[in-house]
Amino acid sequence: MLQVNADYLKLKAGYLFPEISRRIKDFKSKNPESDLIRLGIGDVTEPLPLACRQAMKMAIDEMGTKDGFRGYGPEQGYQWLRECISENDYLSRGSEISADEIFISDGSKCDSSNILDILGKGNKIAVTDPVYPVYVDTNVMTGRTGEVNAVGEYQGLSYIPINSENGFEAEIPKEKFDIIYLCFPNNPTGAVATKDQLTSWVKYAKKNNSLILFDAAYEAFIKDESIPHSIYEIEGAKDCAIEFRSFSKNAGFTGTRCAFTVIPKSLKGNAGSEEVDLWSLWNRRQSTKFNGVSYIVQRGAEAVYSKEGQQQINRLVSFYMDNAQIIKKHLTSAGFEVFGAINAPYAWIKTPETMSSWDFFDFLLENANVVGTPGSGFGAAGEGYFRLSAFNTRENVEKAMQRIVKS
Ligand SMILES: *Cc1c(COP(=O)(O)O)cnc(C)c1O
Repeated sequence: MLQVNADYLKLKAGYLFPEISRRIKDFKSKNPESDLIRLGIGDVTEPLPLACRQAMKMAIDEMGTKDGFRGYGPEQGYQWLRECISENDYLSRGSEISADEIFISDGSKCDSSNILDILGKGNKIAVTDPVYPVYVDTNVMTGRTGEVNAVGEYQGLSYIPINSENGFEAEIPKEKFDIIYLCFPNNPTGAVATKDQLTSWVKYAKKNNSLILFDAAYEAFIKDESIPHSIYEIEGAKDCAIEFRSFSKNAGFTGTRCAFTVIPKSLKGNAGSEEVDLWSLWNRRQSTKFNGVSYIVQRGAEAVYSKEGQQQINRLVSFYMDNAQIIKKHLTSAGFEVFGAINAPYAWIKTPETMSSWDFFDFLLENANVVGTPGSGFGAAGEGYFRLSAFNTRENVEKAMQRIVKS
């Protein structure tokens, strides 16, 4: 009989977003007239920047000419885009990341999952709690964990709590981990990591020969100038960190698809007693398993770095961050404890009194007709919290706040 990958069966039943959809459907069938406002799933809502659309249109026309047509592109991405990223995101901020250390891809979600392809199975792995569920689930799917317990923790994974007690700082572990996933600005808590905190992480990783998988999908939302946008702004990070970046949130590319991953050539790991560099393995992996991002989309991504592109994405980011301010202001004055929402498009709210995350979800759904995301869906330490996203129209955000305050 055919065998399936039984590790998939370990995945928590009723995963967060399907469960949210189920409860919304249930509510809608009982209240067909209700006008729900969704501040739940982290998808952008504003249209694509003009500079990106113009660049993509030009690229389409080029593809329609004999000279401009392009077939399979380099799996690592076109050199002009890699150079543009190296220059604008790294060299200009003092980080020595070269173009060929940048791999263009169709998403950080995919890359942060696929990276496990080149990493051994025996590694000790730590994630923060709460956490972006993709990091956990892909470890489960690839057989790197045991079973899940009642609060959603998997055997074989270690969880580093980030909550109000530790000021949403991931404390440096005493134990030695081989791989640590960090995401700053953080989804779901909206917390950021200071230069000092990241320096401690890099020191820890170098001392323990660990690898930091650093997800910086929200770096564009950082307002505070002292907060690093990249882990490579920390000395030594090139020896211990991979960074994931994406055009999804800053330029509204969630439906267009373009991201990149930085694998410094200095990153090393062992295969038995032999030392190998991670760059070569990832390059090999991408060459075999990935076809690259379309030429058209890469031209769109390149336009993000043009003068017009920069102005337009700054406007997009400011728009969402004004939403975040509105959320924070209203909820704070209504007596809620609100975290995040300053350098990240998420407000992380303490649920009132002893209400659980799901009870608060049901309460807001029924009394305010507002949909958010229960903190417990992101991990055990997210229990008692609730995430509201700033990705929505101004009108919806304001309406949602008035309804929540009233309820
Ligand atoms: C949205 C998001 C991403 C971006 O994912 P893409 O696959 O590039 O769209 C990455 N990490 C986190 C934590 C996110 O919330």
